[in-house]
Amino acid sequence: MAEVRTRFAPSPTGALHVGGAHTALFAWLFARHEGGKFILRVEDTDELRSTDESLAAIYDGLRWLEIDWDEGPDIGGPHAPYIQSERLDIYERYIGQLMESGRAYRCFCTPEELEERREIMRARGIPPRYDGTCRDLSEDEQQRLLAEEKPYCIRFRVRETGTTVVDDLVRGEVSFDNALLGDFVIQKTSGYPTYHLAVVVDDHLMQISHVIRAEEHLANTPSHIQLMDALGFGVPQFAHLPLILGTDRSKLSKRHGAVNLMDYRDQGFLPEAMRNFLALIGWSPGTEQEILNLQELIEAFTLEGVSKSPGIFDLEKATWLNGEYLKQADAEHITDLLEPILRREGLIEEQLSPARREWLVAVVDLMKERTRLLRDFVTWGRYFFTDDFPYDNRARTKWLRREEVPERLDMLAERVAELETWDVDAIESAIRGLAEDLDVSAAKVIHPCRAAVTGQTVGPSLFHLMELIPREDVVVRLRRAAELGRAGEMEPLPAEE
Ligand code: GLU
Repeated sequence: MAEVRTRFAPSPTGALHVGGAHTALFAWLFARHEGGKFILRVEDTDELRSTDESLAAIYDGLRWLEIDWDEGPDIGGPHAPYIQSERLDIYERYIGQLMESGRAYRCFCTPEELEERREIMRARGIPPRYDGTCRDLSEDEQQRLLAEEKPYCIRFRVRETGTTVVDDLVRGEVSFDNALLGDFVIQKTSGYPTYHLAVVVDDHLMQISHVIRAEEHLANTPSHIQLMDALGFGVPQFAHLPLILGTDRSKLSKRHGAVNLMDYRDQGFLPEAMRNFLALIGWSPGTEQEILNLQELIEAFTLEGVSKSPGIFDLEKATWLNGEYLKQADAEHITDLLEPILRREGLIEEQLSPARREWLVAVVDLMKERTRLLRDFVTWGRYFFTDDFPYDNRARTKWLRREEVPERLDMLAERVAELETWDVDAIESAIRGLAEDLDVSAAKVIHPCRAAVTGQTVGPSLFHLMELIPREDVVVRLRRAAELGRAGEMEPLPAEE
């Protein structure tokens, strides 16, 4: 069998959306499963909307997910260049070929004229398409219009009879009525090729064996197949991936969560969790297994496992998966990903000394079991980094506003301040020792202490977390909570709107 070659062909006109990342991932997984090649090709034929920032965002997004490419704009390859705006002469040649064979023609209709005619078709209930006005202009007529310097585009003359069948590896055979296709533009008035022309030429020249792309392009495929036939190209295999919907089964939008892939990084998703999550949208490994590492995904991935019906983007599931990954992940690795998030929040310094880094790894190790997003370190885990954290209402009502608590916190502060060492054992004996001396259960000291030091009633082992907070800070926090309690400032706060 010929080599499997797939491609991701983004248009750099904005951020990398989760839908684009999903397409890239599937094309990449298929290539890797088959031992083939994955090509990155930049489709910037929309010259007005394409930007370098967007291209940079695409690179960032793919790299974040650890999707690598064998050929692409930055690394070159046997079919370079891989940016369409650098391939204009190639497209021109093929457009020339179609003009010569009579399969393409100049169209002088203005945008206003086209819109007017489309309006009429819509009003008559006919699906709008090009009506063929310029299809058969005489040579004389064309020369006259050219002499007048009337702008024109170039259209492809479609075969209007019969049907074009797309044999799709996901959807099976899908038949399109050629009469509905309409002659489409292959070269714009600006002289730039359109997406339709460029994608067909490049998939051929780059020897793409499998065109794996989003379902929205299925309707373009019969036009592409006709173009391939006219140019004498073979037809690649097609696999159109299902739509991605929100949990309410409407089109994915901001309401369902961020649509920009990198927002997930910023919220603290691990790339491996996001990759796993995206892979499970519209694809199933055929087993119950939901947590698949990179190697397992590559091994299990087949196009047969891709579903025809829409995939659901379920943020709850993504968050759950991320929590599972956090539990398993190595604390050093999590710390690498967490550092920029904490830095952005101003919770750690620009440069961590080796000792601070070691401390941060220890914080991560203690917390990772209970977090689902890296952002949880900024919210729940805030007390590791600053004294400036809120006391939640449970901490207030269950402990901090109780009459006997301020005195206990002050006594504890005193004992803590006098400890000779600052480690788990010393901390534990100070707390238990105070409880014994007061003749109360240890819980009656442990819980208020946790509330004072963290602002919360739940969290990791109190003795272990205290060890990771400087002793002076602990003393300050115990005294502060005591004072606020005495001053009647520990009443519950009104629920937030
Ligand atoms: N540039 C197209 C897009 O971003 C690619 C479509 C295709 O894969 O053929 O939608």
